[in-house]
Amino acid sequence: MGSKNSFWKKTKEFIKRNSYALVISFCVLVAFSVITTLSVADLYKDNNKVASTTQNQPEDSSKPEEDGKDVAPTSGETVIIFDCPVENCNESKEYAEDMVLEDKTSGVWKTHQGIDYAGTSEDKVFSVYDGTVESVEDSMMDGKIITIKHVGNLKTIYKSLGEVCVNEGDSVKKGEEIGKMGTSTNEQAEGVHLHFEVEKDGKLVDPDDYLATSAK
Ligand SMILES: [Zn+2]
Repeated sequence: MGSKNSFWKKTKEFIKRNSYALVISFCVLVAFSVITTLSVADLYKDNNKVASTTQNQPEDSSKPEEDGKDVAPTSGETVIIFDCPVENCNESKEYAEDMVLEDKTSGVWKTHQGIDYAGTSEDKVFSVYDGTVESVEDSMMDGKIITIKHVGNLKTIYKSLGEVCVNEGDSVKKGEEIGKMGTSTNEQAEGVHLHFEVEKDGKLVDPDDYLATSAK
């Protein structure tokens, strides 16, 4: 018992003697705790910032993607330029959709949805672009006809051919010979020639829109 009392006594005396130092220590401890808590809080905030930034990132990065989608068809689309389908690239009859031209064969004025190139039966006809031969026909009215399918939903149609040297399903390269000029009943008065048509999305269009400047 006595030792216990003397322990408390000593302790009280110690506290009395060192109260100043104890208060300082306590204050330092509190201050340290506050600083530590604040630091942790800051750190937590920073982490949240990082987290929220990370969360925002997909939104931010999705914007250029969306922009890219808008741009892609324009920038990604291959610019298609056709070579002339014949060696001597002089048009003998132009394309006319919005006006009528005299059809020498029938004597009727009508539209002409292709370009004619006059020549001889020795004149070669070339594929204007890489593609696949979709069909080879022998028509009563239009002579031999080759239809070639290209990228971009484009087709080129070669009418009034005398000879054909490709088959359906063949892959052809730009500038590759596919046949020779001939005649057709429809355009008999044009003599030996090639009647060249371009189809875009199933509709005949002006071949000049796709022919290289040098081929016009
Ligand atoms: Zn024609």
